[in-house]
Amino acid sequence: MSGTTNTASGLNVAVKKVVTDLASKLSSNAKIVTEQDGEWNALLERWSDIGKQTPAAIVSVATEADVQETVKQCLSHGVKFVPKAGGHSLWSTIGAEGIVIDLTAFNAVVVDKESGTVTVSGGSQIKDAIAPLFEAGLCSPFGTANTVGAVPQAVNGGLTIFSGLLGQTSDAILSARLVTATGDLLTISSTSHPELLYAIKGAGTYFGLVTSLTLRASPLSTLSSDGTIWKTTAPFPASRISDVIGALAPLASSPDPRATGALIITKSPQGDGSTIVLASLIFFGSSEDANAHFASIKALGPFVWGEKRVSYAHVNDDFDPFCATGGFKRHVVAGVPGVPGDPAIWEAEVKAYKALIEKAGAQAARSMVCFMWVGKGEAGRWAESAFGHRGVAAWVEAVVWYTDEGSAEAAWEWQVEALRIGTEGFREEEVETFQNSSRETPIKSRFPGEGRLEKLTALKREWDPEGVFTNVFL
Ligand SMILES: Cc1cc2nc3c(=O)[nH]c(=O)nc-3n(C[C@H](O)[C@H](O)[C@H](O)COP(=O)(O)OP(=O)(O)OC[C@H]3O[C@@H](n4cnc5c(N)ncnc54)[C@H](O)[C@@H]3O)c2cc1C
Repeated sequence: MSGTTNTASGLNVAVKKVVTDLASKLSSNAKIVTEQDGEWNALLERWSDIGKQTPAAIVSVATEADVQETVKQCLSHGVKFVPKAGGHSLWSTIGAEGIVIDLTAFNAVVVDKESGTVTVSGGSQIKDAIAPLFEAGLCSPFGTANTVGAVPQAVNGGLTIFSGLLGQTSDAILSARLVTATGDLLTISSTSHPELLYAIKGAGTYFGLVTSLTLRASPLSTLSSDGTIWKTTAPFPASRISDVIGALAPLASSPDPRATGALIITKSPQGDGSTIVLASLIFFGSSEDANAHFASIKALGPFVWGEKRVSYAHVNDDFDPFCATGGFKRHVVAGVPGVPGDPAIWEAEVKAYKALIEKAGAQAARSMVCFMWVGKGEAGRWAESAFGHRGVAAWVEAVVWYTDEGSAEAAWEWQVEALRIGTEGFREEEVETFQNSSRETPIKSRFPGEGRLEKLTALKREWDPEGVFTNVFL
């Protein structure tokens, strides 16, 4: 094994045993990295510094066997560990008592054109999957961020702009390979442990470490005749919020499965300090049909109508600046059964957002609040799974991004308030939360629906009763 020049001094006894035992067992491309190593700081980087901890060691794995061996060693020496893929969550971090299993070098993607599938490895990022899919003339409904881990995004439900046509990302999951809480390696499919297939389609990180995931891939022509996607970002001054929501709400309320989008309140990227409202619109079809569909928004006269067509391979590129590592960031999300179309709600959101920026200053100006409406395919098209949010019509999301740690309290208070405002027209039991965004909300709101929570709890007790992969459901 290469890259083991670090000394293990300073590590606690159990971690030292894991590191020592693993050294001869990992593949040649794997590395055990500790504080003394040059790569340490780079491997510690995360999307957000909120809650960032420093582990005893990082095991950078390169193969499925590396993953299984590392899990087994940790289990046998009683060392806690967390897997890390894209590092965009607040959870793939652990303190000095534990180890990070870094999956980023374990990122091969195989597209099978004949069977119409894509198989991603445990550490593949979304960009690693969509480029070869596009090359093969195929597409799968991944999320909107290039550097997010393809596995965690998919197995935790998978919100996606493609949901109207292709379902949620988790709906496309066909099979998986999973290292369990006992260190065993299982194949999961509709014929092999189907109960775990149900679980990993929405609650996937709580049942084991997914070493690979095979998803359905559809012809690119499902998206449009030439496989490109129509997009525009139409900015307005925040003072126009009532007009914009007035035009957008009817479109979002009865969504054509080909149309999706978001309404975003943020600071102008021009740096003039003004607050703006952006209609970010997407259409799967011809530019003519897109313009006809969104004519009421265009008629409002945005600053620009930045219309373009992008290939599936580049569908997420506009979002790259938002995927940068570092700084203090967090997103909180609530799902509601109707589009929050009352202008008073959005006027209140603008006011609360402006108050945050006034308090926290320009260093928090990349924060934003938005609602995204959900493209719906036919009801009942997708198999029952751990993903329980079929009734959600729109997600209200509040994202903070600040660089001064002293803004933590103001940022959190604003996020709570932003979700309160965005959901206040709905009864408490109607409001759902997204478990891949927050693990603190009531669990029933993360796994709603009759019998879902009970089923997942029973599965957790069977497959991970000691909480190796978190205590969620225990
Ligand atoms: C900028 C941004 C954009 C986003 N866009 C979307 C979107 O469009 N759709 C959507 O649904 N979500 C989206 N999310 C949410 C995102 O899917 C989750 O935050 C996801 O958990 C991040 O995955 P990751 O690999 O980047 O993070 P990590 O922090 O590396 O992993 C997330 C969780 O999964 C665990 N884990 C990592 N790899 C594995 C594995 N192979 N097997 C089992 N467990 C594993 C980690 O321990 C951690 O608990 C977005 C988040 C951000 C920050």
